[in-house]
Amino acid sequence: APGLYIVATPIGNLGDITLRAADTLRACDAVACEDTRVTGKLMKHLGASKPLWRYDDHASAQDRARLIGAMRTQAVALVSDAGTPLVSDPGFRLVREARAAGVPVVTLPGPCAAVAGLTLSGLPNDRFLFAGFLPAKEKARADMLAALGDIPATLIFYETAPRLAKSLAAISAVLPGREVAVARELTKLHEECRTGAPDALLAHYAAHPPRGEIVLLIAPPAEAAPDAGDAEAQLAAALETMKP
Ligand code: SAM
Repeated sequence: APGLYIVATPIGNLGDITLRAADTLRACDAVACEDTRVTGKLMKHLGASKPLWRYDDHASAQDRARLIGAMRTQAVALVSDAGTPLVSDPGFRLVREARAAGVPVVTLPGPCAAVAGLTLSGLPNDRFLFAGFLPAKEKARADMLAALGDIPATLIFYETAPRLAKSLAAISAVLPGREVAVARELTKLHEECRTGAPDALLAHYAAHPPRGEIVLLIAPPAEAAPDAGDAEAQLAAALETMKP
């Protein structure tokens, strides 16, 4: 049926494609994607061949209007290079505007590195806060860690291998003694998850420079047992500091 289909795709292991995702990518009329080469490989793996339309959040309002127009008569799948679209990936504006335009929007959940990292880490998961990538600049990074540090929830960040050491050093300075987990290459051949104090992890990765893709997690403060009201106030204050 015509509409917008938000399709999660594997974060490494192609076996993680869901049955629904495979069916939808084989049956849709077109696929909106970040990188046509990356998505082309997945389509080939699925034995599917569809028009691939490049889409990211830098696309113009006109581009989006055209795409949304197409969704009135065609089934358009939205995928990102890996994992769940919109999670540190393009799609937010497209979904928002498609909904506003009355186009049917359907979600096909599946792999997401943040959730995979959380489940593997062994850190508390009753409450967690996904905060995307830490800022690249030192002061902004320390400020964000300070703003989020008191929240009684496990913090989840996306991270890159070249920046891991700087982030661990910042955590060690701003949130000393906090348990940290580094989940690397999830679902891939060299999947690993290391937990420990930021200093210990820093020493490990100084000796063994990390490669590949990383989810960085920080355990909640040890004494974290405030009531839900506190958590909400702290979250609101922290989110305020994250506004661009
Ligand atoms: N939308 C994706 C998702 O749902 O997971 C995330 C896209 S974001 C641009 C890419 C980041 O996700 C990477 O820098 C890394 O932090 C994380 N990531 C993606 N795949 C991963 C994997 N297999 N193992 C660990 N982290 C991964």
